[in-house]
Amino acid sequence: MTTPKSAALSNVGKIRSNNQDSGYAGQQLFVVADGMGGHAGGDVASAIAIRRIRETDKHYTSPGDAEFALQSSLIAANQLLAETVFEHQELTGMGTTVSAMLRVGDSMTIAHIGDSRIYLWRDGELSQITADHTFVQRLVDSGRITPEEAAVHPRRSVLMRVLGDVDAAPEIDTAIIGTQPGDRWLICSDGLSSYLAEDRIVKALAAGLDAEQTTQRLVKETLDHGAPDNVTVVVVDVDDSGDSGVEPAVTVGSASAPLTFEGEAGRKSLRLPTILLHPLKVASTPEDSHFEPESDEYLAELIAEDRRRRRRRRVTWLVAVVVAVAALVTGLFLAYQWTQDHYYVGERSGTVVIYKGVQQTLGPISLSEVHEVTDVRVDDLPNYTQQTVEDTINADSLSDARAIVERLADAVDR
Ligand code: CA
Repeated sequence: MTTPKSAALSNVGKIRSNNQDSGYAGQQLFVVADGMGGHAGGDVASAIAIRRIRETDKHYTSPGDAEFALQSSLIAANQLLAETVFEHQELTGMGTTVSAMLRVGDSMTIAHIGDSRIYLWRDGELSQITADHTFVQRLVDSGRITPEEAAVHPRRSVLMRVLGDVDAAPEIDTAIIGTQPGDRWLICSDGLSSYLAEDRIVKALAAGLDAEQTTQRLVKETLDHGAPDNVTVVVVDVDDSGDSGVEPAVTVGSASAPLTFEGEAGRKSLRLPTILLHPLKVASTPEDSHFEPESDEYLAELIAEDRRRRRRRRVTWLVAVVVAVAALVTGLFLAYQWTQDHYYVGERSGTVVIYKGVQQTLGPISLSEVHEVTDVRVDDLPNYTQQTVEDTINADSLSDARAIVERLADAVDR
């Protein structure tokens, strides 16, 4: 048995009642699909997409041919989802992300929609190849929020583009990227990338494990972190053989379970098999659909909501600043009050005077003023006393300061 060059693994996670993800690793084709949709359908959507797209798992003569075949298969899957919803109204609103790649020699052809991700790990560096089609990514791209804010944004799971029954001509990203021996590709659903920090992902990829062990490690780490979502990973290693495939091909997640509604038998209803396959699903509350169709009005509404949220945050921030400034002003006022209870003896224009306040200054601001001028001349004092007066003498109170002046006057007499 040779080392597997690619592998796929999917897990329902620790919170969800069913697995709406699907994954595929075959001869040349590697795919992850993350389904979503109301009270039914997410698992159906990703399964339908994977089953349609895996028909493109063939050798192609050029990356361009592969790109065309892959993109066409995503559009065909989109059409199939719309037809399925037409026949099974209860599936309305179902959709799925798809991140797929087809290897042709030293090229990877990529087709992508949604927020599953394709990463390339090369020379110890992990690069995200696909862009998330999410609302928060739009905000990041337009400079409204930072990537750090996006990671904790309350609407970070809102998707703007998926395959489904909403858009007959979905916008699919495609790319052809060169690949070389030593490259390791990772495709994953957001159940991995949203919950496992990137350095943990890098560690797993760099651990010297083969593709299959790496998928196991990534899924295990996600489970160790609580795995609130379904998690699916496909790992593909590139060596100099020109082939990264697994034989036989592996399908994981919901696409690996029979969907009996396909063909004549299932035309009647999807309800029964859904209940049989996923008894928990019926009893559980609907998992929220996080797909929001990309209409201008909806986007405007989301942006308005984000603006309101930011305004609220700005008001909170403003209140905090006002409180801090008030505290500072109060503190300064009390400190000033404190200085004004103090006196010291010093000199001004050759005469001994009593100052009210403290010797220190606050930048250009003096914290003392002359309180009483005496008739004692500094020049008349003994030398060492002159120096002491110039250095100033602290007094506990005004009467103490006056007593100090009297003693200085006595020194003149002598
Ligand atoms: Ca997910």
